[in-house]
Amino acid sequence: MRIAYACPACSATVMLDGIEARTVLECTACSAEVAIPDDAIAMETPAAAAASGSRLNRCLVCPSTELFVRKDFPQQLGLAIVVVGLLASCVAWAWHELIVTFAILFATAAIDVVIYLFMPDCLSCYRCGARYRGDGLRAQRGEFNLETHEKYRQQRARSRQIAGR
Ligand SMILES: [Zn+2]
Ligand SMILES: [Zn+2]
Repeated sequence: MRIAYACPACSATVMLDGIEARTVLECTACSAEVAIPDDAIAMETPAAAAASGSRLNRCLVCPSTELFVRKDFPQQLGLAIVVVGLLASCVAWAWHELIVTFAILFATAAIDVVIYLFMPDCLSCYRCGARYRGDGLRAQRGEFNLETHEKYRQQRARSRQIAGR
């Protein structure tokens, strides 16, 4: 299993591999350590683990137990493809190439869908945004939940307000 998280001490993005075998996460920039709680990664029987992978019970970086499954898809890339497609279709439109215009728009959408389908899933923490990747990684909780997302977004906004005072 791999992790990508923002170091709580220096905010650097830290990427670590093989976290099942570790007891601490160490920042590659400032060496700050985050201890991995004992019960965080549920190791199942070897047969079950081979079939479905290890299970993450909670975030390893912050105390949150709420994780959601998302596509490991760089949003900027998706947006860049759409913008390029729109610009190209505008050019074609200006040249009165109706079929080309729609072909470009259709191709843009198709590329986004294909990339999305082939991108692997990753797990993300609602609270601190840490991301977990690995074969057969499963969350205790499943799909993205807007209510939970909103709860943590408001919490973050409040703590920023308090810090700003
Ligand atoms: Zn650090
Ligand atoms: Zn977290």
